[in-house]
Amino acid sequence: MINKPKIIEKWQKRNKYGRPGTPLTAKKIAIHYTGSPDVPGHKTLSYFNNVVANGHKVNGKFVYASAHYIIDLDGTIYQLIPTTEICYATNSANSYAIAVEVATTGADNHYTDATYKSMVWLCAWLCQYKKLDCQKDIITHTDVVGKNYKLCPIYMVKNPDKMQQFKQDCHNLKEGKIRVSDITNCTAEGSVKIPKMIKVIQNVNYRTEPNFKATSIAGEATPGQIFTVVDLITKSEANMYKLKSGFYITASKKYVEEFIPKKF
Ligand SMILES: [Zn+2]
Repeated sequence: MINKPKIIEKWQKRNKYGRPGTPLTAKKIAIHYTGSPDVPGHKTLSYFNNVVANGHKVNGKFVYASAHYIIDLDGTIYQLIPTTEICYATNSANSYAIAVEVATTGADNHYTDATYKSMVWLCAWLCQYKKLDCQKDIITHTDVVGKNYKLCPIYMVKNPDKMQQFKQDCHNLKEGKIRVSDITNCTAEGSVKIPKMIKVIQNVNYRTEPNFKATSIAGEATPGQIFTVVDLITKSEANMYKLKSGFYITASKKYVEEFIPKKF
């Protein structure tokens, strides 16, 4: 059992733009981002509770928007709407999803250490409270609306391995495999460790350029092959190692693993 994280209640008044009072049976937890990095959570809170809730027009149309929770850059968790009522955040999933709006930082909209810790703690606790499965029931906004509609939260949509790790962290906390103090921000810059050597565990192409285009294929590496790594390229869609030979290979743990030579 994990304890409930500290939550600051800032209840939104009943209003048709954000808190209509419609009953919610929570089946999913959807995470979101505000659209820009380094927007303090308390500003988002004020926008929902003091602007949108009073009737706010953009381009002549009323805005309908809210979230159950907002997590700030310093890790503060605010709650605006009870989890027994719907909010307006996740389009067609509003009828079954709890929405968590999470502040992001940096050009890539990753999370501060404090924000990440609160995000894992809150989502793990919500899964425990609502009897949900962290692996299956924590979703992104984009999982509901598709990539053509919105990339939200953009960092998690662009880095699906980090979303996977985030759900794993939630699961591990919920199951008592880690403690809150053990939560490590997998989205922080420099969080990816570069191994000195890697071993291929599944057939995979090595490439002339750090991308996964057909034109960059240079040959196929086979299980058991060992390579020396000189760099990690994180700009491409997925991470790739630059090898001593000058070629590039995926950093996906599905295909390669760290190799530590035995010392004699
Ligand atoms: Zn969203």
